[in-house]
Amino acid sequence: MTVTCAMLPGPLGEIGALRRGACPSLATPMRTGDGLLVRLRPTAAALTAHDLLALADLARAHGNGLIEITARGNLQLRGLTDASVPHLAVGLAAAGIVPQTGVAIEVPPLAGIDPSELADAAPLADALRAALADAALVLAPKLAVVVDGGGVLSLADMVADIRLDAVARIRGLAWRLSLGGDRMTARAVALLPGEKAVDGVMTVAAALAAIGPAARGRDLDPTLLAAALGAAPVPPIPVASPVHPLGVHGIGDETVLGLAPAYGQIHADRFAALTRELVACGATEFRLAPHHALLVRGLCAETVAAAQACATRGRVWSTQDAPGRTVSVCAGSAGCASASFDTHAAADALVARAGDLLDGSFDVHVSGCPKGCAHPAAAAVTLCGTAAGVGLVLGGRAGDGAAAILPADALRPALHRLGALLRARRADGETAGNLIDRTASDTLVSAYQGQQ
Ligand code: SF4
Repeated sequence: MTVTCAMLPGPLGEIGALRRGACPSLATPMRTGDGLLVRLRPTAAALTAHDLLALADLARAHGNGLIEITARGNLQLRGLTDASVPHLAVGLAAAGIVPQTGVAIEVPPLAGIDPSELADAAPLADALRAALADAALVLAPKLAVVVDGGGVLSLADMVADIRLDAVARIRGLAWRLSLGGDRMTARAVALLPGEKAVDGVMTVAAALAAIGPAARGRDLDPTLLAAALGAAPVPPIPVASPVHPLGVHGIGDETVLGLAPAYGQIHADRFAALTRELVACGATEFRLAPHHALLVRGLCAETVAAAQACATRGRVWSTQDAPGRTVSVCAGSAGCASASFDTHAAADALVARAGDLLDGSFDVHVSGCPKGCAHPAAAAVTLCGTAAGVGLVLGGRAGDGAAAILPADALRPALHRLGALLRARRADGETAGNLIDRTASDTLVSAYQGQQ
């Protein structure tokens, strides 16, 4: 099929800087420091090696070659231009890769495969997608819906505006409808039988549309919606600690390996080389997953170690203890003209000097400039590139005022000092997040500046 610009949804001829809060898609790319960024989620849950190699070719031909897997398991291609985006669309169509459009509806990456899941969420997600498309409601561009049937790699920790979580009941399976949070924090609306689940979500969607195109799940009152649905009170549901997709998982009698490019980003050349190496190890199928991960199927106990070795050679993480996985890092000067320093090198320095403190209990963000693409929310610790150097922001966003700024070449010793300070103050068994919380900002700033 030949795809032309005119066939694409959206004004490709009027591509401009997408406002923050919108969602960069093929039809509406986002302008960043390294050109246009396109985010896409293939409709097919399972990708072949052929698909991955085609994506690598397209990233190289039409962008700057950088491929990212986002925290929600979407693909991002960077460094495109107004002229090259239509060619990317044509290339994707030619490769048979169809990006999802409309409201983002996420299901666990192993839905339908994992024998431990309560339900296969994919058919319900498809029915929901069709209902939303038919209704053509005007909803917030970043609205997210999670349909979670459980399983080893459930989406329990994925924040969404609207959630449907499978619940096992004595009388059969039900779906818990909730708003604005992860499985633990979302506010419950109703417990619905399968045949009522789509209607339940559509009631929520209509309520959002009635408020306006910026409304999110947090803006709704669950009590009013429960009354509208005639729903009984919802009992609490068990929430097991979610498993991180990185590393080796036994899924039934199958071995699945979770990989993640270092800091969520890989060049197309390495991506293609790794794909070929994984195929040589027996890989037959690939699935995008949250936490910047790519799941590899087709391996066995004998070949998974070889696959992990290939990943490590390609600067791709393959174990749950990779400390860098807890750091949010943007493209930096290697891929973005707005960056004032090499964010990936800074993150590597952080891991080398304070890797033992990166226990996942606090957010760390390394941003090439105050735009803060990799972590728009506040983080406990942010290193942000500015015209004057690398700023330290505590408990804020990248664009917030830095408590201290150092020249980029003074960053490594500063990280060493911060690591030493925190290590010396840490109590037995204390999380690093708690340690940072109870350490005065002035003390952290003094260590950063070398004024201890
Ligand atoms: S935050 Fe990073 S990727 Fe985003 S514009 Fe700034 S330097 Fe570029």
